[in-house]
Amino acid sequence: MFKKVLIANRGEIALRVICACKELGVRTVAVYSEADRNSLHVRFADEAVCIGPAKSALSYLDIPSVISAAEITNVDAIHPGYGFLSENADFAEVCELSNIRFIGPRPEVTRLMGVKDKARTAMAAAGVPVLAGSDGVLKSPEEAEKMAGQIGYPVILKASAGGGGRGMRIVREPAELAGLFAQAQQEAGAAFSSPDVYLEKYVEAPRHIEFQVLADQYGNVEVFPERECSIQRRHQKLGEESPSPKVTAELRARVAASLREALHAVGYTNAGTVEFLMDENGELYFIEVNARIQVEHPVTEFITGVDLVKGQILAASGARMDEILSGPVRIHGHAIECRINAENPETFAPSPGRITALNIPGGMGVRVDTAAYSDCVIPPYYDSLVAKLITHGRDRAEAIARMHRALEMFVVEGISTSIPLHQQIMADPDFQAGNFDTNFISRFLAARETASKR
Ligand code: ADP
Repeated sequence: MFKKVLIANRGEIALRVICACKELGVRTVAVYSEADRNSLHVRFADEAVCIGPAKSALSYLDIPSVISAAEITNVDAIHPGYGFLSENADFAEVCELSNIRFIGPRPEVTRLMGVKDKARTAMAAAGVPVLAGSDGVLKSPEEAEKMAGQIGYPVILKASAGGGGRGMRIVREPAELAGLFAQAQQEAGAAFSSPDVYLEKYVEAPRHIEFQVLADQYGNVEVFPERECSIQRRHQKLGEESPSPKVTAELRARVAASLREALHAVGYTNAGTVEFLMDENGELYFIEVNARIQVEHPVTEFITGVDLVKGQILAASGARMDEILSGPVRIHGHAIECRINAENPETFAPSPGRITALNIPGGMGVRVDTAAYSDCVIPPYYDSLVAKLITHGRDRAEAIARMHRALEMFVVEGISTSIPLHQQIMADPDFQAGNFDTNFISRFLAARETASKR
């Protein structure tokens, strides 16, 4: 086992990794920007190193600064959390060259998964169902038009290097294609410094279903029960749950078997998530792999009892899957997560600032992952996630009832948060009936607007 791990992240996920390390008896090193001097991850780590100014390009994303901090403090491994450098294969490579274990997949696997059209081809080759689409990057609008004609409209143009829902364009008819192709290329180029786009069939009103995986270094791949993440705004997840109300045991087992084989074939190690879309016939189609721990991992932990972050650290240190899991993975009850963001619940405008009063809910079946405390400042420089509220129940109805009361008891003063929005979602009859897809939030917001005008 490692003696000391550096956490190349901030906020709730840095704290989450510190918790796992403490339980494993591993010492921790926090890195922080000047804006995060008073953060809890700095306070609870055994050591802390300031790596630069508030701007993440000059601190959390600055590879030489992070590596220097790791070398000064003599760590054995780096946990990248999510976001920042977590899916940067060059960073993983620099870690290995510096004799520091990167807690994540091997650089070449991360690189393959990061190019979404290539990941798609690799998964299809290993027998995982993918949507009809282009064979790699599209060279011209003419090629895109020909391909779209073969597949049939609507289609979606997606950035090869994409993430966070950017660089995507839905194309409903041939006349729109050339214009949207140029837009997608431009957005992709600006956001990911690669204008490459590919195309796949657009699924109307899909459900977003994903599978957590964890692989050791000996070819053993565990596929966990699915999470459903259809509660999204502008392709960004707001809430997640597990298991999905729509996935049957038969489908779960079928996908798990194909993923075990496919991930073994690409040499996958450590944690990751394989994302799918479910069409109206209830079939699942691969869309992408996130080669890191995800924000929504706690719902899986709640229903399986497996600590996934400890699993990542153990796997990276060379433990075998049977030692990591200690028994078969089973589903116990139901878990739901609400992402509590510092934002206006009506306009979604960011709402950074000082939290003047805070009450964090607790009690049976409630988990809160946060780095917030009363009188802390939510800086404007990073993402707006302030806390993750996760509830567990014997069934979905109990998890929802718990979420209801936990949201009511979650008090954050001084900034606006998405708590009121989540309360409205929990009270929605369609949500309660498990009757939703990725367009739920846009329908929901439109209905809310109409109601407020009456
Ligand atoms: P990103 O890497 O930017 O998150 P994804 O490929 O994971 O992009 O897609 C994000 C979201 O966009 C999905 O959850 C879904 O809502 C929507 N989406 C992506 N591909 C399709 C598709 N082929 N059809 C319909 N919706 C899609």
